[in-house]
Amino acid sequence: MNTLIEVRDLAKTFTLHQQHGVSLQVLRGLNFTVAAGECLVLHGQSGAGKSTLLRTLYGNYLPAGGSIRIRHAGDWLELVGAEPRQVLAVRRQTLGYVSQFLRVIPRVPALEVVMEPALARGWTRVDAEARAKALLTRLNIPERLWQLAPGTFSGGEQQRVNLARGFMVSWPVMLLDEPTASLDEANASVVLELIDEAKAAGSALIGIFHDRAIREAVADRYLDMTQEDLAHAI
Ligand code: ADP
Ligand code: MG
Repeated sequence: MNTLIEVRDLAKTFTLHQQHGVSLQVLRGLNFTVAAGECLVLHGQSGAGKSTLLRTLYGNYLPAGGSIRIRHAGDWLELVGAEPRQVLAVRRQTLGYVSQFLRVIPRVPALEVVMEPALARGWTRVDAEARAKALLTRLNIPERLWQLAPGTFSGGEQQRVNLARGFMVSWPVMLLDEPTASLDEANASVVLELIDEAKAAGSALIGIFHDRAIREAVADRYLDMTQEDLAHAI
C-alpha cells in the first residue's frame, strides 16, 4: 500500500466559553491512513465532526493533539506542531481542499479562480487556460460566465467553479466536503468522473458525501465518526 496520509490520535476541541472553561471535544483520538488511488469516506450524522476533521487536516484548525503525517517527495512530513510557515508550504504542495462553499475573491474572473492552483505550481498560462476551460466546460459553466467574478453566480455555479479549481491540478491528498451538495444529477456524475480520474492519477481522497448512492459509488473504505453523545462538554 502506497500510503500518502497517516493520522494518529487526532483530537480537536473547540473552546466555547473562555471564562467558564467550557469546551466541546469534537475529534477524539482518530486513527486512519489513506493510500494512493483510494477514497476514504467519512460517515456520521450531522455534527459528528466530519467538516472539522477536513479543516483540521487542511490546517485551518489547530489540533489539541495527535499527528498528521503526509508523504511528499519521498519524505514523511509532520503537520502537527510544525512551524506555521512550514505547514502552509506543505499544504500548498500536497493538499487540495474543496470546501462546501467557494471563498469568492471579489473581481477575479471565474477562469482565473480556476487557473490559479496551476499557475502557482508553475504551469504556463496556455496550459492552465486549456485545462481550466476544459473543466469549466465539463462542469457546464457557460462560456459567457468565464470572465465574470463568481460572486454573483448561483450556489450550484459557485460550487462547480470551486470543483473546477479543486480538480485543476493533481493533489497527493484531496479533501472533499459535500462536493455534490447543490448539483443536479448530470453535474454530480461529472464529479464522480473527476474523482475516478484523481484516483487513477494516484491521489488519496478523503470525502464527505450526503447522497448515499454517490457515497457508495466512490467509497473504497469508510471512517465511522458516529458519536453516541454529541454534546460532549468537558
Ligand atoms: P459535520 O460536518 O459532521 O456535520 P462539524 O464538523 O461541522 O460536523 O461540527 C462538529 C461539531 O463541532 C458541531 O457540534 C459544531 O457545532 C461544532 N463546531 C464546528 N465548528 C465550530 C467552531 N468553529 N466553533 C465551535 N464549535 C464548532
Ligand atoms: Mg459538515
